[in-house]
Amino acid sequence: MKYFDIDLNLNEDDIALRDAARQFAEQEIRPVAKLLDQMTAEEGIAEDSPLWPLLGKAYALGYHKILLPERFGGLELTPLQANIVMEELGWGSFGLGVLLAVVSFPFYFVCLSNNEELIEKFVKPYCNCTDGSIRGCWAITEPEHGSDVLAIGDECFTSPSMKGNVKAVLDGDEWVINGQKSAWVSGGTISTHALLYVQIDQSKGFAGNGTCIVPLDLPGVSKGKPLEKMGQRDLNQGEIYFDDVRIPKEYMMVEPDMYVLMLDSCLALANLCMASWSTGLSRAAYEEALNYTKERIQGGRPLIEHYTTKQRLFEMFARVETQRAVTRAAIKLNFSIMPPHPEYSFVAKTQSTEMAFKNTHDAIQLFGGNGLTREYAVEKLFRDARSTLIEDGNNEALARHGGDVLMKTYPRN
Ligand SMILES: Cc1cc2nc3c(=O)[nH]c(=O)nc-3n(C[C@H](O)[C@H](O)[C@H](O)COP(=O)(O)OP(=O)(O)OC[C@H]3O[C@@H](n4cnc5c(N)ncnc54)[C@H](O)[C@@H]3O)c2cc1C
Repeated sequence: MKYFDIDLNLNEDDIALRDAARQFAEQEIRPVAKLLDQMTAEEGIAEDSPLWPLLGKAYALGYHKILLPERFGGLELTPLQANIVMEELGWGSFGLGVLLAVVSFPFYFVCLSNNEELIEKFVKPYCNCTDGSIRGCWAITEPEHGSDVLAIGDECFTSPSMKGNVKAVLDGDEWVINGQKSAWVSGGTISTHALLYVQIDQSKGFAGNGTCIVPLDLPGVSKGKPLEKMGQRDLNQGEIYFDDVRIPKEYMMVEPDMYVLMLDSCLALANLCMASWSTGLSRAAYEEALNYTKERIQGGRPLIEHYTTKQRLFEMFARVETQRAVTRAAIKLNFSIMPPHPEYSFVAKTQSTEMAFKNTHDAIQLFGGNGLTREYAVEKLFRDARSTLIEDGNNEALARHGGDVLMKTYPRN
């Protein structure tokens, strides 16, 4: 089912990208997501897993470099196009949509560093990769620190009592890294490179952190078991351990002086991706419900002919349109300015994920008992949507951070 886009200014390229992404999501992502959802986490990354051919196809089409600039081999989509493609991938599967973006995070940040040597070494091979064999991850969450490490503006963030679980110490021309990232790192057990957040100067709390790129084939790196979880089961996750891992000094792209600005920008970017995939997820739930209620007869008529069903479907439709509108507005803003205004990304993420969750909930209600079974897609959509309220920052934590921005910088000029 194609949606009508109320933006009549989409150009031919925008429409072609949307249609191609939609076809890929329908024909390639959905069937694999369904299989992975029903496998164990170990089976999902075994040699014969359907994940690998899917990644190969996605890389061959360039879906791993949506966020990267053209001059280094990326697609350099406009903010609107990035939103359009991510919505379609999220419609196919939220978890695989996340994976296809997170694989690019270390390389995206190397581009921002403007370090030509690092770009040559890391970004160009990644952009040229067409078989899915180079995969990044975003490793920030720690066993003892979830919301803490994102809590810019909170007292705890700058407190010297905040001891990070991963530390880096400069030894001559090399950083030596020790510690552990949590099991929630997306793509953690299958990635070849990490965008790693490390504590450098504990006297500044987490504001004393830095960010580096770490090839994960270095001596001293090991990985945990893939995580078994309720939703987004098609998204591999797991711990990464660092035992005296040495990286050249230049791999530390951000040090404490720039860390807070970088983290805020990173959250602004990641949460716009979350909002875009959530729009797709929400639309998937709405479409499933629309189709089902046209077919299921109760009281002698299709469900959709009953007043309360029409009303519920309209509310679901309204949520999707609202999600898309607010997400596009925020992505157009924050993909175009530096530094971004994170509060708009947080509005998009918190609202879009809450609405996606409501839509999957309503879809299950409209399916009745059938909605609770694995036979129907809405059961997976509901589990996937539940995870989004926690992912890339609990919605409460993002709201607190957004409130802090309002307190300190509003009214904006
Ligand atoms: C599907 C998924 C994918 C993810 N992908 C990644 C990834 O790629 N890389 C990565 O590094 N991490 C990833 N994460 C981790 C994610 O960012 C964290 O789960 C999130 O930041 C919350 O941290 P936590 O789970 O430790 O919860 P906690 O921080 O322990 O929070 C638990 C509860 O306490 C509340 N709370 C926390 N602090 C306060 C406070 N100060 N005051 C009041 N209440 C508070 C929270 O709102 C929440 O309700 C992912 C998570 C999920 C679910």
